[in-house]
Amino acid sequence: MNYDVILIRYGELALKGKNRDLFEEALVRSVKSVLRSFYKIKVRRNYGRMYVELHGEDSQAVMERLKRVFGISSFSPTVQVEPDEELIKEKSLEMIRQIQPEPRTFRVETRRADKRFPKTSMEVSRMVGTHILRNLPAIKVDVHQPEAVVNIEIRAEGTYISCQTIPGPGGLPVGSGGKVLLLLSGGIDSPVAGWMMMKRGVTLEAIHFHSPPFTSERSLEKVRDLAHKLTKWGGTVRLHVVPFTDIQTAIRQNCPEDYMITIMRRFMMRISERIADDNNALALATGESLGQVASQTLESMNTINDVVSIPILRPLIAMDKSEIMDISRRIDTYELSILPFEDCCTIFTPKKPVTRPKPYMAERFEEKLDVDAMVEDAVKRTVVEEITSKPREVINDLF
Ligand code: ATP
Ligand code: MG
Repeated sequence: MNYDVILIRYGELALKGKNRDLFEEALVRSVKSVLRSFYKIKVRRNYGRMYVELHGEDSQAVMERLKRVFGISSFSPTVQVEPDEELIKEKSLEMIRQIQPEPRTFRVETRRADKRFPKTSMEVSRMVGTHILRNLPAIKVDVHQPEAVVNIEIRAEGTYISCQTIPGPGGLPVGSGGKVLLLLSGGIDSPVAGWMMMKRGVTLEAIHFHSPPFTSERSLEKVRDLAHKLTKWGGTVRLHVVPFTDIQTAIRQNCPEDYMITIMRRFMMRISERIADDNNALALATGESLGQVASQTLESMNTINDVVSIPILRPLIAMDKSEIMDISRRIDTYELSILPFEDCCTIFTPKKPVTRPKPYMAERFEEKLDVDAMVEDAVKRTVVEEITSKPREVINDLF
């Protein structure tokens, strides 16, 4: 079937006024950005709907991309016809014939926004329904739970017919919700946390703490690959790579073993807050989930939060590991996340980390360190990379 237009439905019902404008503008930007490589398409918006005019571009390929645009609630491949009764009948029949498996029941739904059209919505539905019944002897009408719905929209700018409604990912368009800095490790959780923030409209930057030679170039490459996966849901992700070896070494030499993780986390937060400020990010986000590991208790989170004033968002906080893993499979980060490359925490795991750390204890242990100078130095040596949605080269000798 040759489609002319993809009709996009969107909009959280609660959005109103100025918020709605921002939402629509951000959605247009997102759609245009994921369809950049389709030169012929045109995106237009009209009365709470968006239309992607295909002008001959491959509808399947375009729809694959739209499945990853947050803010889209559903979309339909659509043909456009002249507002002519015979054409509407013929095209509707042709479209319902395409559906596999063959539907046993159907319904026609017509909306007539252009009142110049001589028949009412009801009359059009009846006319098209009769035509379909005459030509497909096996099919029946079911107005309540039909297996197929033929949608006809008669608008001033065109008459559109569609038979298929494909769910979009929902959420809010990336770019409508400010910027967040994601602490991205190589694990399962933090990419999911980043994806969930993007789903709520946030533009993401990522920060990764890298400790060569304890952590290899391969583990850093894995983090880049994970950031790349996230770009498929919304443009470029800037990745800040922080050299963390000196800080980890100093902590290991000067602080008691059971507080090492807590103190390391506090350094991560201090550095992240600085990088967030410098890049206009309004919050940090992590992949922590309550109780998942010894260091993810409320006491631990409070002790970590204590050193910064920027909000720390933890979108996975109340989720089970199995729910998190389900999402990571769906967003295609799981297979990468489970690759067995050490991250800075796996090489830095004390036998018995404290589960209820206290801020005053952490502060006391940090007195041995020149915290400000260490943070300053790490921030200065941080390197920014732009991870784009273009395919990444596989570095063969590393894998
Ligand atoms: P993940 O699966 O995301 O690695 P985790 O279950 O391994 O998380 P932790 O190791 O306790 O849990 O890390 C908690 C959070 O701290 C991570 O989700 C991530 O946001 C952040 N984090 C940990 N290590 C790093 C790192 N090397 N660079 C950036 N962020 C990190
Ligand atoms: Mg981890």
